[in-house]
This record gives sequence, structure tokens and C-alpha cells, in this order.
Amino acid sequence: MPLEKELAVAKQAVQLASQLCSATQKGLSSQETLDKNDKSPVTVADFGAQALVLNTLGKLFPEDPAVGEEDTGDLIKPENAELLQRIAKHVQEVDTDMDQKVILDAISRGGNKGGDQGRFWTLDPIDGTKGFLRGDQYAIALALIVEGEVQLGVLGCPNLSLDDGQKGCLLFAVKGQGAFQAPLNEIEDSRVIKADGIEDPSLASFCESVESGHTKHDRAQKIADLLGTKAEPFRMDSQCKYAVVSRGQASVYLRLPTRPGYEEKIWDHAAGYIILQEAGGRISDTLGNSLDFSRGRTLKTNKGIVATSPKIHEAVVKAVIASA
Ligand code: AMP
Ligand code: MG
Repeated sequence: MPLEKELAVAKQAVQLASQLCSATQKGLSSQETLDKNDKSPVTVADFGAQALVLNTLGKLFPEDPAVGEEDTGDLIKPENAELLQRIAKHVQEVDTDMDQKVILDAISRGGNKGGDQGRFWTLDPIDGTKGFLRGDQYAIALALIVEGEVQLGVLGCPNLSLDDGQKGCLLFAVKGQGAFQAPLNEIEDSRVIKADGIEDPSLASFCESVESGHTKHDRAQKIADLLGTKAEPFRMDSQCKYAVVSRGQASVYLRLPTRPGYEEKIWDHAAGYIILQEAGGRISDTLGNSLDFSRGRTLKTNKGIVATSPKIHEAVVKAVIASA
């Protein structure tokens, strides 16, 4: 099977990072969080998860560049020496061989600029850091992009439950091979997942970001009204939204721009995009255009996201355009 080794390594790397995040979320203290330049929070777990994933990939695919959300800019400042020590402690609970230098080198591997040439990985070590801090949903999101096209995606969702109520799942897909989910602690025990087959958009259930800074909630309500949808939208952090549409638990995920200049980051969508596509779903931006992952670190030619189950995409895009 194409990309078999890449998939096995990516699943293992995301599983390791998920272990670190779950263990860290329970006892996180205020000394383990920083505010980045853009005022968004970052925690020891974001850095630790990026170090674990990029170190694992670096050992098996040393030639592959990576586009990761985090960098070492803040970590190498003398005032953050204690933070770096704390990161090392969390990482070493999962991988005893990684010292501070190995950790910093691994995090730095994420500085690639992406684009349309060759292949590279993209990683959001904790997507939905605000959800992570609240004790809610978050995801470890890893994807492989080849010549500008997403070919493989893995999502670790430590707080998302499986059908039997068991907490923690891993979703994954390779282009042309379908989408699957497995328990996070038993990643070989995977089952096929599929988006729902509804044809009437008034029956759709919607999901959206918890954060009003990340999507326009009032515009989503207008779109739901235009489609005659009765169900209340449910709010959830991170690419877990792609996961629930991929499993048929929701039919629509809308991300409606809150300000004109914002460019969606490739690591916030690549893994969820390929998983939902392989589960039968359809994804475009708010104007109905295909997502273009070949433009660098952001989806600079796209505006927002409309992700749906297969048969209602056109109707939902039409309502999104009418709501503008
Ligand atoms: P969510 O959990 O779906 O709200 O998405 C979390 C992601 O939102 C983070 O990884 C950020 O990269 C991204 N983000 C930050 N600011 C914005 C914004 N103004 N619009 C859309 N997404 C944003
Ligand atoms: Mg993110």
C-alpha cells in the first residue's frame, strides 16, 4: 500500500504525543503556559508534543522537512530556562532518550515554509490549546503534503469518545484508502468511518468553534435559519470538528472569518481535511473554492471553511454565500 510506512510512523508519533498531552493536561500549572506574540496561549505540552512528533519523524524520514506551529524563539530565552526544564521532564516521561538539546533541535525542524515542491509534514502539536487549557477537546494533528496535495492525515483526540463511550481516539486516512478510527490505546484495532448521507440540509447538525474570535457564531445561525435547520449548533475546539463530521455525528462544520486579513494555517486543516474527504465528505472555503495547501504555511487563497457530508455541500455553500 502506498505510504504504509509513513502512516505507521505518523500514527505512532501522534499516539506518543497524545500520551504526553493527556498526562500534562491533568496537572497543568500557570508556570507551564506562555502567551505568544499573537497573544494566543502555548503550554509545555504544545512544545513537548511537537518535540516528540518531529523527533520520531526525523529518525525515520530525516530528509523530510516539516511545517510545525511552534518554534524555539521563546524557549531559548534565559528567562524561560525553567519552562524548558519542565518540557524536558514531560517529554522524558514518554521518551527517556530526549535531552534538552534533542528537544530544541526537534522543535526547530518545524520551521519549513511549505509550498508546492516535494513533500513535507505539517503539525499542530496541540490544536485547540484554549480547549486543552479548559480541560475540553483538543487534537494532535499531523499530515503529509506531497506536491501541494494532502496525502495522509492523523488526528489524535485524547478527550473524544468512541461509540462505546471509551475516551481517546485516533483517526487517520491516506488518500484513496478510506478513513479509519481506532482507540488511542489500541491503534491497530481500527474501523472504517463514514460521513452521513443526508440529502435534506434542514436535517443537518452543525458544529463550530467555541471561540467567537475564530468563527462568526451569529452568521452561522443565519445560515442554519436559511437552510431551515432546527438543531442547535454544538461547539467544540480543534479539528475534533472534522472528526465528528467524518464519523457522521454532525453534518456540517463551518469556520466563518471574523476579520478580513486572517489566513487559515495549513496545520489547522490538513489532517482533518484528508480524513473527512476519505470518509466521503466535501470541503471548500466559504466561496466554494477548493482548499489550496500549496501556498506556504497558510491557506492564503482561501477564506474560511465549509466542511460537510457529501450530499448537502452545494446547498450549504449557497446559504453561506447568501449570508454574507
Ligand atoms: P478552534 O479550536 O477550531 O477554534 O481552532 C483553533 C485554531 O484557531 C488555532 O490553532 C489557531 O491557529 C486558529 N485561530 C487563531 N485565530 C484565528 C482567527 N482569527 N480565525 C480563525 N482561526 C484562528
Ligand atoms: Mg491549531
